[in-house]
Amino acid sequence: MRNMKSIYFFNEGDGNNKKLFGGKGAGLAEMTRLGLPVPPGFTITTEVCNMYYASGKKLPRNLMNKVKKKIVKIEKKTGKKFGSIENPLLVSVRSGAAISMPGMMDTILNLGLNNKTVIGLAKKSNNPRFAWDSYRRFLQLFGKVVFGIDDKKFEQALERAKHAQNVQADSDLNEESLQKIVLEYKTICENHLGKPFPEDPYKQLELAIEAVFRSWMGERALVYREKYKITKDIANGTAVNVVTMVFGNMGNDSATGVVFTRNPGDGTRKVFGEYLVNAQGEDVVAGIRTPQPIDNLARELPKTYTQLMKTCEKLERHYKEPQDIEFTVEQGKFYMLQTRSAKMNAIGMIKTSVDMVKEKLISRDRAILRLQPEQLDQLLHKTIDTVAAKNYPSIVKGIAASPGAATGIVVFDVKKAVQFGDEGVKVILVREETKPEDVPAFFASVGILTSRGGKTSHAAVVARGMGKPGIVGCSDMKIDYAAKKFQVEGKTVLEGEVITIDGSDGNVFLGEVPTIEPKLTDDFRTILNWAEKTKRLGIRANADTPEAAKLAREYGAKGIGLCRTERMFNARDRLGLFVDMIMTRTIEERKAVLEKLMVLQKSDFKEILTAMKGYHVTIRLLDPPLHEFLPNIEELINRIHSLEKQNTSSEIDATKRILDRARELAEINPMMGHRGVRIGITFPEIYEMQIRAICEAAAELVKEKVDAHAQIMIPQVGSVTELIQIKKIYDQIKSSVESKYEIKLKINFGTMLEVVRGCLTADEMAKVTEFFSFGTNDLTQAVFSFSREDVEGKFLPEYIEKEILVENPFQSLDVNGVGSLMQIAIAKGKSVKPNLEIGICGEHGGDPISIKFCHKAGLSYVSASSHRIPIAILAAAQAALLEKSERKPKTKKSKKKK
Ligand code: PEP
Ligand code: MG
Repeated sequence: MRNMKSIYFFNEGDGNNKKLFGGKGAGLAEMTRLGLPVPPGFTITTEVCNMYYASGKKLPRNLMNKVKKKIVKIEKKTGKKFGSIENPLLVSVRSGAAISMPGMMDTILNLGLNNKTVIGLAKKSNNPRFAWDSYRRFLQLFGKVVFGIDDKKFEQALERAKHAQNVQADSDLNEESLQKIVLEYKTICENHLGKPFPEDPYKQLELAIEAVFRSWMGERALVYREKYKITKDIANGTAVNVVTMVFGNMGNDSATGVVFTRNPGDGTRKVFGEYLVNAQGEDVVAGIRTPQPIDNLARELPKTYTQLMKTCEKLERHYKEPQDIEFTVEQGKFYMLQTRSAKMNAIGMIKTSVDMVKEKLISRDRAILRLQPEQLDQLLHKTIDTVAAKNYPSIVKGIAASPGAATGIVVFDVKKAVQFGDEGVKVILVREETKPEDVPAFFASVGILTSRGGKTSHAAVVARGMGKPGIVGCSDMKIDYAAKKFQVEGKTVLEGEVITIDGSDGNVFLGEVPTIEPKLTDDFRTILNWAEKTKRLGIRANADTPEAAKLAREYGAKGIGLCRTERMFNARDRLGLFVDMIMTRTIEERKAVLEKLMVLQKSDFKEILTAMKGYHVTIRLLDPPLHEFLPNIEELINRIHSLEKQNTSSEIDATKRILDRARELAEINPMMGHRGVRIGITFPEIYEMQIRAICEAAAELVKEKVDAHAQIMIPQVGSVTELIQIKKIYDQIKSSVESKYEIKLKINFGTMLEVVRGCLTADEMAKVTEFFSFGTNDLTQAVFSFSREDVEGKFLPEYIEKEILVENPFQSLDVNGVGSLMQIAIAKGKSVKPNLEIGICGEHGGDPISIKFCHKAGLSYVSASSHRIPIAILAAAQAALLEKSERKPKTKKSKKKK
């Protein structure tokens, strides 16, 4: 560390090492190396920033000596001198970390000005007004950033000066007024400091470098890094760039501007941006004057325009990526101040990916790798029109659970939601939480909003499965069902009022916020097609209805990895029957109701298998505890009270019977209770009915010559003996259906791995199964001992804020914990059956980072909700490409060894 090089001239830097030089420093180094006109300067590395913090916020002892040597070299190059009265050198001191954090850290301009050099600048520029204006801007920025003085003090002084001179705009202030402002600004600083303002440019520089390092840990930067999950391995510290000042405000042959080499809104190949003649960057930001579209530059400063276009072309060819560029023209001389990869929306990214391949600028692999899978979400759902939404402040924010925007009236009651939905009214179902018995209202609503629960709670999973926008865990929203209202800070929203929810970021708005319809372009299809050919992982869908199956297929899913059969019982004509079944007391009574349900299930299975013909459809037998299909106990008590008031005795008795049964079945911890295979063991007739429905559906489809491939999957299995018991039922029913239809059926039998013991005994499980599917929602719950229904709305946000956890493990797979357990299970399973089909059907199956893990772990497929299929395809292709690139160097080494 002691001997490490801490300062690099731009021509010594490494454009590929953003970690050391920061994005801005790397860009300046690369442009200098390419021969582009970058003002002379140097970068102090991010390592120095880390040393600054490691030594208790002190700059390394000899740093300023090294800085001085570099400044002397700049002086030689430019012919200007730091502190000179004749031809002063002024510099900007700019922050820049490995990841761009726009506006989150500090920068100081015009450094080097003092009471003497301002005279030099006035003489040299032949423009005293400009010199004094630069000086007052410097004092204001320096006072604010270095000394932490409230900007208001400077603004008030500026306002007083404008008032005294009787002008409106800053640009109308004359030299005399500006000189007075400089005096006042100095007094503000000196009063604050209790000592004179530092006149020595080197002292100014030292203070500015320190201030930039300090801004790395400033509140804005910390919040930004947390929001965008910028961890230390992504960006560790800021670099400081000291750059010779060039001025775009030195007359009508000077200008400043910002351009994108392609349009960031739609990706069109045309330079896009704005500029201003005789101005500094700040003027553009402050909106004092309206910038001109870049095309006008061709007329106003034709030579500069040609230089700019050539530079754009050169940078794109070099970086193979559209660039976002800052330039300045000082008295006709063109300078480049910054270049970085352009941030674009999803449409822009996709179009540029396809275009650049057509232009032979990049390969297909690179076109796939440069996209962010999550960004595709923008193209698959209705989104809030962010520009128009500015007039609609968000009233509360919850957990973004199912993407897309929806507007509708607030309805708290499930029955009412169904009734309104039938009448064509757009409804947002607002509940504290939801249960399977609420699902009919999901069908009837355009969006779901709950005050409890997390990303894998019932409401979240069902909304995602149906592709309906959903927000969960909105804990600042207090619902009062009795008064039919909810309250958020400072506002009460009544049932029937219109709200808009944004399931992509969790915001709730009052009224109808304008939205943008999704667009599936040809370019999007092209990218998916390329990704499809690149990936190794299979992509299946979590789909419970024929509609979801059709949509998933359209998006490119090849099979269904999870069809949750309980969802079918939630359809309106089934729920009543299912409740009847739960209410039965004898096995005969139960079988009679199940007989009726079987007919309905069979027809559902036939439809889904047909929609996915040619591919596997994994049907999971009943999983949730039975009481979840009964109304909530509190609601039943309320219902009985109101029936008693109306004196409708027959209904009272029926409701009381349901209440008794609900109390009987209630569990303290239902997620670990009487569910999954445990229902199959204790009420075998339920699983028998489902297995028969699947076998008969498959048999009838064989007769109808439909290429159906059903698989039966058992949930919550913890021991092989459970599986063996169910397998017996399966074998027996399958062969009876085979005899009935006089055919042979191929229906694979498999288990979910979502119980820790199930994973640890996967070798035993493999002996009786043909496939495994990881249920990582329950597995995460079990491995962490975190209730998947509660933690996201309770302590998880604080855990993430305090960096106890980096990510929400229900969203992005916990590779070290849950992932290790999966690897044990995979190894055990494959030790018995090397070609065992192993997939994942927890919500992680649609998460790009988790998909990378699944690829590496050698899974056969991932299963994601229909709307995440394109994201999963792209992420799977990226995983394959990354693996390819990681392997390359190893192959070389191993060859050498040989
Ligand atoms: C799981 O646990 O990961 C799973 C897919 O099942 P469910 O979410 O229905 O419990
Ligand atoms: Mg589960």
